[in-house]
Parts: sequence; structure tokens; C-alpha cells
Amino acid sequence: MLTNTAPQTPTAQHAPTVPNGFDALNLIEPICRAVRDEEYSNPTPIQTKAVPPLLEGRDLLGCAQTGTGKTAAFALPILQRLTENYQPAGPKGVRSLILTPTRELAVQISQSFDIYGRYLNLKQTVVYGGVRQEKQVKALKRGVDILVATPGRLLDLFNQKCLRLDKVEVFVLDEADRMLDMGFLPDVKRIHAAIPKTNQTMLFSATLPQEIQRLTKSFLKDPVKIEVAPPSTTVEKIEQRVLFVDRENKGALLKSMLEDVSIERALIFARTKHGANKIVKNLGKSKIKADAIHGNKSQSARMDALNKFKTGKVRVLVATDIASRGIDVDGITHVINYELPNEPESYVHRIGRTARAGAMGTALSLCDLGELGYLRRIEQATKKSVEMEKDHDYHSDAIASKRRNASGSKSRPPQRKRNFGFRPSSGKNSKPGARKGRPFRGRKN
Ligand code: AMP
Repeated sequence: MLTNTAPQTPTAQHAPTVPNGFDALNLIEPICRAVRDEEYSNPTPIQTKAVPPLLEGRDLLGCAQTGTGKTAAFALPILQRLTENYQPAGPKGVRSLILTPTRELAVQISQSFDIYGRYLNLKQTVVYGGVRQEKQVKALKRGVDILVATPGRLLDLFNQKCLRLDKVEVFVLDEADRMLDMGFLPDVKRIHAAIPKTNQTMLFSATLPQEIQRLTKSFLKDPVKIEVAPPSTTVEKIEQRVLFVDRENKGALLKSMLEDVSIERALIFARTKHGANKIVKNLGKSKIKADAIHGNKSQSARMDALNKFKTGKVRVLVATDIASRGIDVDGITHVINYELPNEPESYVHRIGRTARAGAMGTALSLCDLGELGYLRRIEQATKKSVEMEKDHDYHSDAIASKRRNASGSKSRPPQRKRNFGFRPSSGKNSKPGARKGRPFRGRKN
């Protein structure tokens, strides 16, 4: 844990023998120890490429999304720099500022700093909107080494003079393209204007639309440019299947799917907040416990649901696209699209919640007749055809043949519906002795 006590300067010894691939990165021993505790054996590509120039103090432009190990890539060098060049932040001072678009991401980044900095004496805190500000103001009063923040609340606290930005040594702008999408760029520019120009700056963005390119020019000095694994690479590690089902049977199909115990941790996507609540309620009727996270839930309810999901107390989490952004939970074995998104990009973001940190994962999409067009667009964008799964009680051959016809393949006569469940289920449509379906298992590498 990073401490809340008065910081001292630890001796910055370099680890003599670190028995893993982090050896070459020249990190100090307390950081190496924390990484070993996490059982990371090798740095991810972005860590290998980013850590050395960041330790030299270079600016960085990183084209990478969550799931690539991006957080450690910037957190480890920040922790090292703040430790090696230790100087007190002073009242209300901030030595490093990490701006990120969503509350969930802010909390996750802050937790990562806690983990990687557990053997260092640095102070950190996190601020975001949607909750009362008193505790945040108190945490900032004596100054912090690391502040993780969402832009709106940060600017609010800055305008109230609850913090100072004139001592910022390192500035990170995370998920810059999402900041743009969410309308945060004016706030970001105001915050940047208050930070000394001599600092080290890092900007991360999965994509580089023109406005972000302009931002990089004004924010970064001679940056190192690093690009890692575009979204399509992530998609390749995910087993994708589509289940054709009439709209009115989706609820029953979902229930029968979740009876399969190989679905250890499932993230289900709904298109609307109302839809997400309805799924939770319907599952509840079948004694399948699930929580929902979406914009209408209070911040504490969202964090509570996310924590229960992370710790395995709840196996099923239902989310909308916006609320799910940046959900970083290891071990999500399955992403289930209860409804297909109308934008292929959202599909890629959704399914990227599984297959994190080198693991494999499965993405299952429930597709009704009206969603065939969405499926086609997704397949075109990802350049991958999604395999059909018809071993279930609610398979619609009519939708499947419509897809075949639309894709130009030769139409086959409708097959007799096989009444197989994912496993022999007690559902009203299952038949005794039905063959056990292929388990929806997320494979590990
Ligand atoms: P991020 O892209 O920062 O959201 O990280 C995604 C996940 O990868 C997190 O759960 C990290 O704990 C994990 N992770 C980060 N670096 C490594 C590494 N070198 N080896 C294994 N897992 C890692």
C-alpha cells in the first residue's frame, strides 16, 4: 500500500537479481518486488517499449488500449521517478497527475498505483465526480505524490483552490480519444494550462483522430511514439459465437446458458439501462444472482457491484456500453451480448473485456432477426465471420437461413431443430438425455 504517513526517501537500490523478464527494465527493487508479488513474469510489449524512455524522462505518445498492460507501463516509471527525486508535494500540492475519462478507470488506476507502489512511501489519492467532495478535499490538503482524477471533478476542486497544479512533475492523459468522445477536451486543456511546461507528459489513445493529433503537438515535446496491438489483435484471442434466437426467447436462452457452470464469470451487455435492469430482474426470478452497472446507478452502487464481481461474490454482471468502459476485471470467461450493438467498435470494446492479460475468452452474441444487419457490419469490420452455435433449445433456423441467404452462400434446406441444451437442463424445452452442448469455456493460455 502507498502510505498516508509523511513520506521518506527510500534508498533507490536497483534490484540485483530479479528472476524474471522485468530484469532489463532497470527498475528499483521495491517496484520489482511488487511486480513479482503480482506474478508478472514478463513485461508486456508496451511495458518493454515504454518503461526505458520514460525512466529517461522522455515524453510519450502511446497508441494502446486497456488490456495491454498500459497502466503499469506508465505507473512503474512514475513511481520510480517520484521516489528517486523525492521532494515533498507541499500543502495541496500534486507531484504527478493522471487524468482518465471515467470513474471506474480512475479507481482501477489508483488501485494499480497502490499495488505497484506498496513498498514505497508515496502518498496517492483519487478524485472523481458523482460523490461528495469533502473526503477528497481532506485527502488533498497536505499534498499528494500521485493524483488520479477525472477531468470535471479535478477542475472543480482546482477552481475551489483545494489543490495546486504548479508542482506537477509528471502528467498523464489516459484514453485521450474517449475524453474527446465524452466532451472533456476543453476541461483537459484548462487543466494542462495550469501545469508547468517543464514536466514529463504522456498521452495514451487507442485511436488518433485529428483533434487528438493536434493535442499531442501542443502537449508533447519530442515524444517517443509507441503503438501496440490494435483492437483486431485482441479479437483474435477470443472465441466468438453467435446464437440465433427469436427476440421473445432471449431471456429463456440466457437463463439456460447461465446454468452452464463453465461460465465462471460473465459480463452481459444490454443496449439500455432499462434493459440491463430487466435482465437482472429476470435472472433473479430463476435464482441467478446478477448485478447491473449503468449510468442511473449511484457511484457507490456501481463500485459495490464491480467489487462483488471482481471478488467472485457475484458471477454475472450486466452492463451498458458506457458503464462498461475500462472495466478491468481479470478472469471474465464470457462476454454475452444479450443484444448486439449497432456499432462494430462497441462490439470490439465489449468482447475485449474477456481475454485479458494473455488469457483466452469466449464472446457469445444473441442475435434476433432485426440484428442480422448489425452482425454483418461487425463481421465486415473485424474481417472475421462469427461461428454459429445452434446447440441450444431456442435456435431459430429461420434467422440462420436468412443470414446464409444474405451472405450469398447457397441456401440449405432448413434442418430439423435439435433440442439440445448447453447442458441437460430442467428447462421446459429440454428433453431427457439431450446431448450436452459444447461448454462455454474460457481457455487459458
Ligand atoms: P491494463 O492494460 O493496464 O488495464 O492491464 C490489463 C491487465 O493486465 C491488468 O489486470 C494487469 O494486472 C495485467 N498486467 C499488466 N502487466 C502485466 C504483465 N507484465 N504480466 C501479466 N499481467 C499483466
